[in-house]
Amino acid sequence: MNRIETSISGGCQCGAVRYRASAVLDSPHICHCRMCQKAVGNFFAALIGIPRDAFEWTRGEPALFKSSDPVTRGFCRDCGTPLLYDYATSKHLNVTTGSLDNPAKFPPQVQFGQEARMPWFSDIGSLTSEGTTEETMAEHVTALKTSNHQHPDHDTDHWPL
Ligand SMILES: [Zn+2]
Ligand SMILES: [Zn+2]
Repeated sequence: MNRIETSISGGCQCGAVRYRASAVLDSPHICHCRMCQKAVGNFFAALIGIPRDAFEWTRGEPALFKSSDPVTRGFCRDCGTPLLYDYATSKHLNVTTGSLDNPAKFPPQVQFGQEARMPWFSDIGSLTSEGTTEETMAEHVTALKTSNHQHPDHDTDHWPL
């Protein structure tokens, strides 16, 4: 695992918790293990490592749950977004890749937790596509956008506006 100097930010859906980092590890990954599935309420957790000395919470702090003695999971207590995977003795922590402001920049390089991987996981990429949100929810998309309570994908001086 190599350290990459960069500048990233991210946070939860409601904006109560925000973070920033000046470096990441070059090994973004997904984990299929049952504990990661539960922690994110999904088929797998997508995570990216960040050296501890390069990381800071810039607004609020997550609520914490110890899923085992060495592992702490962090999430927003207001909106529930999973944010943190922290193995106590590691030199780095992990944030959920989907909580980054620019997750597309960090594609996963490796996968863990094969024992709990969904048997149909490799089929997901070829599922029938119903199109974009604008196409599939055309009647509702204006109401969704004009009443959007999700924090934007960049830092804000004040939130909510
Ligand atoms: Zn939140
Ligand atoms: Zn896991």
